[in-house]
Amino acid sequence: VRQFTQPIAQTANIMNTLQSTAAAAERVFAFLAEEEETPDPESPALPDSVRGIVDFENVRFGYTEDKIIINDFTCKVHEGQSIAIVGPTGAGKSTIIKLLMRFYDINSGDILIDGRSIRDYTREGLRSIFGMVLQDTWLYNASILDNIRYGSFDKSDEQVMAAAKAAHCDEFIRALPDGYHMMLNEEASNLSQGQKQLLTIARTVLSDPKILILDEATSSVDTRTEVMIQKAMDALMKDRTSFVIAHRLSTIRGANMILVMKDGDIVEQGSHDELLAKNGFYANLYQSQFENGGGEEEE
Ligand code: ADP
Repeated sequence: VRQFTQPIAQTANIMNTLQSTAAAAERVFAFLAEEEETPDPESPALPDSVRGIVDFENVRFGYTEDKIIINDFTCKVHEGQSIAIVGPTGAGKSTIIKLLMRFYDINSGDILIDGRSIRDYTREGLRSIFGMVLQDTWLYNASILDNIRYGSFDKSDEQVMAAAKAAHCDEFIRALPDGYHMMLNEEASNLSQGQKQLLTIARTVLSDPKILILDEATSSVDTRTEVMIQKAMDALMKDRTSFVIAHRLSTIRGANMILVMKDGDIVEQGSHDELLAKNGFYANLYQSQFENGGGEEEE
């Protein structure tokens, strides 16, 4: 019997050591996890019936502690409004979006959706509220039908085609060999940039998000496709709260509110006319970018 006790004792010792190491590791990781990501609430707010009212209340944020880039941002967005975010590269436009979708936690203040702090939602629930159309399109090896359906797998072929019609891409799809059943490769090299953009818009129409995030493409496409994209975007934004990182004059002018950003801070906010009347940074930006034939054309 004795022969066995020694190894058993040793094993027990090792087990003890392992357990305490695990416990220590757990403490360390729990600490790290808390630093990086606070846990989701136990009884979260439900995203299903969200209307799309967004409040930024005294938001303060910096990627690092020594450099606060959003100082004290307050802004009230009503249901269905469109917000154009403008400003030079590096101004902080995408940061606002990352905070809204909670890819980073703000330092102080709050962001509310339908009156509930975004921290009251699970991260997954929160992100399900949003639909995004970004400059980078993402398509995969499958038919056009399934590429549009991506993310809304319960939708029928008829619903996919209705979304494509709403996104003004039904016509070009039907003109393709195999139409909706045409297989795409990952780069979708058989489609133009503008056509890929339209497919992404159709996908977002189909997913019917409560709040829309749009990053307007700066790369130029042919005029006809440009018109299609503009119409498709308008259809998508109709009656939906939308945040647009805007480059087109028509979008900026048509927005309910323009947020003007500079060096990571919101320097002005208001409608196009209000901001022009202020004769400040926006008025300057507008004159240098859009008037006298610089940048984009007036329609
Ligand atoms: P925009 O979208 O207007 O081009 P961003 O929101 O991407 O601007 O960037 C705003 C500022 O924050 C810039 O100074 C940028 O360098 C900085 N920044 C962006 N992302 C990070 C990050 N992950 N870590 C640290 N700084 C960042």
